[in-house]
This record gives sequence, structure tokens and C-alpha cells, in this order.
Amino acid sequence: MATGIVVVFDFDHTIIDCDSDDWIFDHFGVTKLFNELLLTMSWNSCVDWMMKEIQTQGRTIQEIAECLKRVPLHTHIITAIKSAHALGCDLRIVSDANVFFIETILKHYGLLEYFSEINTNPSFIDEQGRLRILPFTSFPHGCTVSCPTNMCKGKIIERIRASSFGEGKKQLVYIGDGKGDFCPSLKLREGDYVMPRKNYPVWELICSNSLLIKAEIHEWRDGDELEHKLLRLLNTFIITDEAQNSMTMNPLPPICSTHQLLPQALPVPPY
Ligand SMILES: [Mg+2]
Ligand SMILES: [Zn+2]
Repeated sequence: MATGIVVVFDFDHTIIDCDSDDWIFDHFGVTKLFNELLLTMSWNSCVDWMMKEIQTQGRTIQEIAECLKRVPLHTHIITAIKSAHALGCDLRIVSDANVFFIETILKHYGLLEYFSEINTNPSFIDEQGRLRILPFTSFPHGCTVSCPTNMCKGKIIERIRASSFGEGKKQLVYIGDGKGDFCPSLKLREGDYVMPRKNYPVWELICSNSLLIKAEIHEWRDGDELEHKLLRLLNTFIITDEAQNSMTMNPLPPICSTHQLLPQALPVPPY
């Protein structure tokens, strides 16, 4: 079993094969307005502003949920998640999407129960019955790597390491695609693994700063390759871990055990 491993997934363009915010705004035909707002506001504030806007125009939370259920999620990602869980890994999400989007999509695909923790921007229903999005942290997080003002994924990874390693976890696997996934990649240590999506921003940042990365790097292009590479990594870990355990529990026998190796003397009949 791989019970010593915590696998941390980003959500947009990692678990799902698109950006959930873009997906919603494209569907409701407000992408142009969203892009204009992004010129002067942070992504997280824009998403909240746009959610207010589309619901003020008469769209309901139910319509938003139905739209989220059509988000593309590769079948190999589903099997990767289920297999990693079956091998005993602790699966978590660290994402700059939001609780409502992530839970709606994961529930729809029957995957929510496989994750022990979802770290993302909170959502709530305001006094006018509209779905709203809050920042993950509303105070300055002080990180200057490449993190948006509302979330430093590196700090979340440090918290996950501190709490889960106290419970006997030994290694982290981090899977992501975006600029915001670079900071947590820098926090990984020797013995950990980082899995950047090839040709996406975090892969480019990792390739051009590879000396700063202590974790072993395993790139992937699509759901098929992610499943294949993740399961290969986990199986390697299991084999190594079992070999170490059997060495501890059953130390090698002494090189020479005269008692068993030498021929036994025949019993001499009494005179
Ligand atoms: Mg992403
Ligand atoms: Zn950061």
C-alpha cells in the first residue's frame, strides 16, 4: 500500500480539462466583460463580480450547476484518482477555483468522496439568493513568488506537510499546470514528486528554474499520461517501501549457521 503518500491535485486544467470560471462565463456569453474587468481587478474579485452579474441577469444557481456538470473530465483522470485512493494514498485538492464549482463537478463524476480535503476559495449564498465567491485569504499572505493575492498554494502545501507528516505520511506528490502551482513546487523536498503539465505555465517555470526544484520531476500531457505516470510512481514507492519493511521485520539470516549447514552426526547405537 501507498499509505505514506499524500497526492495533491490542482483542479482547473489538471483534474478537469478546462478552466471552470472560463467555462461558466463562455457558456453565459460574458467572456468579453470578464476579460475587460481583469484589466483592473484580481481574478478572484472578477469571478465574484461576474457571478453577481449573471445572476442579476436572471440566471439561477441551478443553471450554473447544470453547466458545471458538462465540464470535460478525462476518463483516465477518474481511474487515476480511484486507483491512487485504492492504493491507500491520501488525496487532496489545492485550487484557486471555488468550493461550489469543485464540489458540483466532483459529485457529478462520483469523485468527491475520494478526497480528504479541498483547499479553495469559499462560496456562499448572499441575502439576495445569489451564489458568491470569497477569497481563500483576505489578508496579505506575503508571498512574492507567483501567487495571486487571494491564495498562496505554497503556504497550503507547508500546512499539509506539517499536519500529515505528523500522522506518518512520508512523501508528497504535487500535480498542477498553472503559474500558481510553481510556489508549492518550490516547497517540495527531496523524496517528493512534482508532476507539471507539459507546455503549461508551471512546466515552463519549472524547466527554466530547475535548479530550484528539489522534488523529482515527472511531466504529463493528458489524462492518459497522468494516469500512467502517477500509478507507475506509486507502484515504485510501494515496492521500495515493502522491501524496506521486510528488511526491518525479517533481517537477513547470519551468513553461516553451522547448526543447519553442517551434516548432522549419525546417532551412535549404544553397546
Ligand atoms: Mg490549474
Ligand atoms: Zn506563494
